[in-house]
Amino acid sequence: MNQGPHSAAGRPAAAVAMTDYEFCSQYDLYGHMACPGCGEKILLRHILNVLGPETVIVCPAGCAAVTDGVFPHSISPVPFLHVPFDATPAAAAGVRAGLDLSGRKHVTVLAWAGDGATFDIGMGALSAIAERNENILYVCYDNEAYMNTGIQRSSATPYGGWSTTTPKGQLKAEPKKNIGAIMAAHRIPYFASGSPAFLDDLTAKVAQAKRLSGLRFLHLLSPCPPGWKADPRDGITLARLAVESRLFPLYEIIEGTHYRLTHESSGAGFDEYLQLQGRFRYMSAGDRRILQADADRFYAQLTLRHNRNGETTVIGEEP
Ligand code: SF4
Repeated sequence: MNQGPHSAAGRPAAAVAMTDYEFCSQYDLYGHMACPGCGEKILLRHILNVLGPETVIVCPAGCAAVTDGVFPHSISPVPFLHVPFDATPAAAAGVRAGLDLSGRKHVTVLAWAGDGATFDIGMGALSAIAERNENILYVCYDNEAYMNTGIQRSSATPYGGWSTTTPKGQLKAEPKKNIGAIMAAHRIPYFASGSPAFLDDLTAKVAQAKRLSGLRFLHLLSPCPPGWKADPRDGITLARLAVESRLFPLYEIIEGTHYRLTHESSGAGFDEYLQLQGRFRYMSAGDRRILQADADRFYAQLTLRHNRNGETTVIGEEP
């Protein structure tokens, strides 16, 4: 377990953590090893700015783990626990129990995992902590494939997307797993989607999640230029286009039933989103229509649920 930033030998860990937390919260998680244009560090930085220093990160194998630093070095301004690929939920529950027993119920346990660890490998344990309603903030930074190990397909990879495990001429034929519906089925207190291109929306949701207790789940789109075969300069543009094209709508679900859109997607930018990424280069026009129709259908369902709940505003429009 890394105790703090750069694990500065001979320096008192607690004092270092606070000093460097304050630095990082205002500027950056400096010295990380992520690729240019990576969304994961942007997301983590803004989330930690809301959660504050009384946070423990539990992180499985994945890009976040390897780009945090090579032991004993770490960019994290808070304790960062490395755990096996499938064990994030169980380890986070253990950390939670330990903190509670030692009288530190106020400390946030942040499970920070990619889509492979969440949608696939850790799904069983995730379901278990959701069913028990453990007091954990679980965040999935979703880059839509196993990027750290070489761009293998995950169940978060979108329909028609290329990966190194989708043979030539056989693009992914299955739609992206609907993680929001799965978490809603567990009736957890709070689920929300988020994007690094909509930081006000994201930080409002993190603040809301921090106010609540029980299992809270944030599903965040995390641009990955190498895996998406895109220019690093387009990372945030792609994150914005994913939301506006309705491929990654911004919404929240309270107690598993109350759906609320938090940004009205314009429906524009679908073609541009695909054109900017090499992973969609091999899609036929028919495949594109299928993907767009699926996104529009899901967005229509969200809109219906939003309106049924009597919601007439989005977060940014509230008086
Ligand atoms: S491979 Fe992708 S997710 Fe991993 S560090 Fe690079 S940009 Fe980030």
